[in-house]
Amino acid sequence: MNLWFTENQTDNLRLSFRIKKLLAYRESKFQKLAVYDTFEYGKLFTLDDFVMLTEKDEFVYHEMISHVALNCHPNPENILVIGGGDGGTIREIEKHDRVKNITLVEIDEEVVKISKEFLPFVACGFEDKRVKVYIEDGIEYIKNHKNEFDIIFIDSTDPVAFAEGLFHTEFYQFVFEALKEDGIMVAQTEYPFLKGDFIKQVFSSLKEVFPIVSPYLASIPTYPTGLWSFAFASKKYHFIKNANFEYIKPFEKELKYYSPEIHKACFSLPPFIKKLV
Ligand code: SAM
Repeated sequence: MNLWFTENQTDNLRLSFRIKKLLAYRESKFQKLAVYDTFEYGKLFTLDDFVMLTEKDEFVYHEMISHVALNCHPNPENILVIGGGDGGTIREIEKHDRVKNITLVEIDEEVVKISKEFLPFVACGFEDKRVKVYIEDGIEYIKNHKNEFDIIFIDSTDPVAFAEGLFHTEFYQFVFEALKEDGIMVAQTEYPFLKGDFIKQVFSSLKEVFPIVSPYLASIPTYPTGLWSFAFASKKYHFIKNANFEYIKPFEKELKYYSPEIHKACFSLPPFIKKLV
């Protein structure tokens, strides 16, 4: 018998994975969590039946959310990650020896636990001594930290429920204040093909707060429409002029998606996206 997991991406669009086995299913006070073993993409992690990551393509998202900003900052010692409870983003951040402290603020402890049990390829990020994990709402956490971080990554779920506030102008203002005078913020900002109005609003909010703002893109086959966007928002450093690829030299051979060429190319936006931002 064929078993399938189907993600209802919109009311009119679905993505199905043929699965070998359901490995885990849990319900926390925030969301439903599940891990499947799939034929095409290896392990699949979902929250409220939305794809968070798959074993086969998570490297795209986690390399792209992290190395772009880290290569544009000369001294990224103190890092904050809001969300990211699977560990994939901090796994990539840790490749930079210049990073001294990584604070991860994840609202749902069950995400960290299920990742450590079933997703070792991303949970390995929690083993680094530089990491401190806080199980808290990032929207509240950020209000109590001023002038503290060099880079802040918002690695959140989609803008609904307890994640919705992570995409508001007020939250971006608090992020700006939590960053040092030359800080950078990066956020995942959904998919341009079907979330154009949302992206337009997010980038208009970001431009009210930050002097240097640009989307950048990556192709992620298991995310809706396969084309994903991120926001680069910076107080001082430019995403191309200040990029220094010497920083990845020690581990460049380990990378499977991010490269100096991809860094330059990902900021070249197709006209339909340029019009949005
Ligand atoms: N890296 C994957 C991706 O590609 O999207 C998934 C990111 S990670 C699983 C998203 C995390 O954001 C979830 O674990 C969720 O619990 C967390 N999250 C959502 N809203 C949050 C908030 N307000 N504060 C802290 N964490 C939050």
